[in-house]
Amino acid sequence: MTKRNRPDVLVVGAGFAGSVCAREFAEKGFKVLVLEQRQHIGGNMFDGTDRNDLMIHWYGPHIFHTNNQTVFNWLDRFTDWRPYEHRVLGRIKGEEVPIPFNFTSIDTLFPSKTAQRLKKRLIQAFPNKERITVSELTGHQDEELAELGDFIFENVFVHYTAKQWGIPVEQVDSAVINRVPVLLSYDDRYFQDELQFMPKNGYTELFKQILSHENIVCRLGVSADAALRLEAEGRILFEGEVFEGPVIYTGAPDQLLNYHFGRLEYRSLDLSFETIKKTQFQKAAVVNYPNEEKFTRITEFKQLTGQVKEGVTAILKEYPSAYTGKDKLEPYYPIETAANRKQYEAYRNKLMTWENLYLCGRLAQYRYFNMDEVIEYALQLSAAIMKLDSVSFVANG
Ligand code: FAD
Ligand code: UDP
Repeated sequence: MTKRNRPDVLVVGAGFAGSVCAREFAEKGFKVLVLEQRQHIGGNMFDGTDRNDLMIHWYGPHIFHTNNQTVFNWLDRFTDWRPYEHRVLGRIKGEEVPIPFNFTSIDTLFPSKTAQRLKKRLIQAFPNKERITVSELTGHQDEELAELGDFIFENVFVHYTAKQWGIPVEQVDSAVINRVPVLLSYDDRYFQDELQFMPKNGYTELFKQILSHENIVCRLGVSADAALRLEAEGRILFEGEVFEGPVIYTGAPDQLLNYHFGRLEYRSLDLSFETIKKTQFQKAAVVNYPNEEKFTRITEFKQLTGQVKEGVTAILKEYPSAYTGKDKLEPYYPIETAANRKQYEAYRNKLMTWENLYLCGRLAQYRYFNMDEVIEYALQLSAAIMKLDSVSFVANG
């Protein structure tokens, strides 16, 4: 953009957080410039085809699921959908059983009489519930249910969690583990949300549609570090000139402040893609390996995307890893311990000195958000900024 044509709003990052905000402002007539440090839009939802023409999610498997009708309606304007219910198996004691652990998992892993008794006791102990947390079982007064809880905890959660987060399960926030319930039925879906879909033509196409607006310009391969400067007086310089419009930042806060309070901890993944000369590799789109292997799960993309192709399939193994910022790995997961949240708050409080700067998204808010939560927040944030009611909103964010 030339000097004459300066944007009204700057957005850093072209994932859901940035793209949703960009579209909202653009539709209200504001000129938006999106700066994205990668060479593509879509953030971690970026997908595309490999050399065998197989559709791949390049930053790990992404399934859209939500109970939020507003979020769904917003996205629905930009894509057609393929109905898709995600199912996951877990390799436990040599068997592949549904995860979340359900009645089929019990039937498969326990002798038939024990399984009958366990299911009956579960229904009696939790008469009005379809899903419980594993800790509701481990702490249960019925000894046999407590033992079942210990079995599930040990075989599904303990080792997977240690691999995924690089710390013992006791140190991981229980909300993280409770994302995966125990189901008191034969329901074998990974998510129980009412709305579960995949964008028919993929996520990248969906992002193209969101960002395709006459008021949006997107610059790829540009990092905020190079284009923006936060000055001590609370001013933001964009390409050397004061920028007074809203700046929506969706990257990692520590990067923006040159690691002033130390590096924020994020967990990364080493993603290992393989081509297999078979029509189908495994029994479900995702198979979890909670125990022996170094990777946590294998995704077979054709089962996720619905693509039909004979004789060849693409898989992904996820090896969790520390994020150091020094190799090619990406910061995928905020590690939400109390100490890390405190460090994050220091960054957030400092960044609030710049009154026209707003943090939005999984990295910027340091929250283990799903896509729908990011979209919901981005919609609320852009509406609040446009109403100039932003100060109290951001303080609660
Ligand atoms: P991102 O997608 O990370 O986008 C941030 C963008 O900002 C990136 O493109 C980045 O390059 C850019 N950026 C960062 N810093 C700068 C800078 N300084 N300058 C310029 N650009 C910058 N959610 C679900 O709902 N369902 C799922 O099945 C699901 N599966 C997941 C699987 C994996 C392996 C992972 C890691 C996450 C998964 N998620 C899933 C969560 C989902 O990926 C996040 O909710 C989503 O990525 C958040 O969007 P965002 O825009 O906040 O962040
Ligand atoms: N988890 C586990 N075993 C499993 C699946 C999940 O221990 O088989 C735990 C693990 O700690 C993981 C968390 O539950 O980080 C959340 O799982 P989810 O599938 O939501 O993780 P994501 O898809 O976000 O990586």
